[in-house]
Amino acid sequence: SVPAAILSALSAAARGGVLFKGGAALETLAAVDSFAFDKTGTLTTGQAVVTQIVALDEDTQGFLSLLAGLEAHSEHHIATAIRREAAKRGLDPAKVAGVSARPGAGITGHDGFGTVWAGNAYLAAAMGAPVEVGRLQALADSADTVIYLGRGSTVLGAVSVADEARASSGPALDALRASGVRRVMMMTGDRRAVAQRIGAGLGFDPNEIHAEMLPEDKVRGVAALADTGKVAFVGDGVNDAAALARADIGIAMGAAGSEVALQAADVALLSEDMRQLSEAHDLARRTALIIR
Ligand code: ADP
Ligand code: MG
Repeated sequence: SVPAAILSALSAAARGGVLFKGGAALETLAAVDSFAFDKTGTLTTGQAVVTQIVALDEDTQGFLSLLAGLEAHSEHHIATAIRREAAKRGLDPAKVAGVSARPGAGITGHDGFGTVWAGNAYLAAAMGAPVEVGRLQALADSADTVIYLGRGSTVLGAVSVADEARASSGPALDALRASGVRRVMMMTGDRRAVAQRIGAGLGFDPNEIHAEMLPEDKVRGVAALADTGKVAFVGDGVNDAAALARADIGIAMGAAGSEVALQAADVALLSEDMRQLSEAHDLARRTALIIR
């Protein structure tokens, strides 16, 4: 049977919005010595906004309506921001069919004329589309996320999108570091400039900021940490599911996170307040001392 101390800790954690799938997960959290965090939607709010739009043919409306047509099929925070910007401008999304996601890279589909896609520089390269910086320089120079829209092997333009760290992320990370946790790191699919801007604001050691990671890179990063101790991975997206499953303990953002992330995780963080996580870590450690 489950010790009373664990049951009472599980219910105390639940009152703070931290749901453990069982007593074993609480015991594992007590032993964690590395925390790896996804960025977008985990350390940041995920309430992204479009900051710049550059349509290379100058037809901003046509550009944005095609982009919104693709993003109509995605649940990513980036997609929500783009759809909202198109709606704000009174634009109807173009009809795009056969859309499929490339986790960590973007999405592809087709309209009446052929293949269309939206995503990062990695996806552009995969589509054989050279990202001629030129008129996209201002976006490339920003510390925002850049999404390229393309047709076949041609880049049509790009938008930049930004979101900000949660107010509770800094204090939660500080508390974890102060508790003597050996490693606290960021593992993001976003580009380096964004990872560094957000990471610097949250007090990350520059060596602990890892950017431009595909889902399988996150798994490899988690596996490397697991070789030397117990690792927790905290994430929200489809792109995080494999890393959540690979970690000794997977912690998913429950309020706005994806269903697959929740299923892969051992803990759901229903609160938007990241400090609930560092408090649950404290609570797990205190409980482990009682039952030993
Ligand atoms: P993170 O690890 O920061 O949560 P993801 O792995 O979900 O980020 O995404 C990595 C990158 O892939 C994004 O920064 C973006 O450039 C691109 N991307 C992912 N999904 C989409 C989408 N629906 N539309 C456009 N770009 C996308
Ligand atoms: Mg994310």
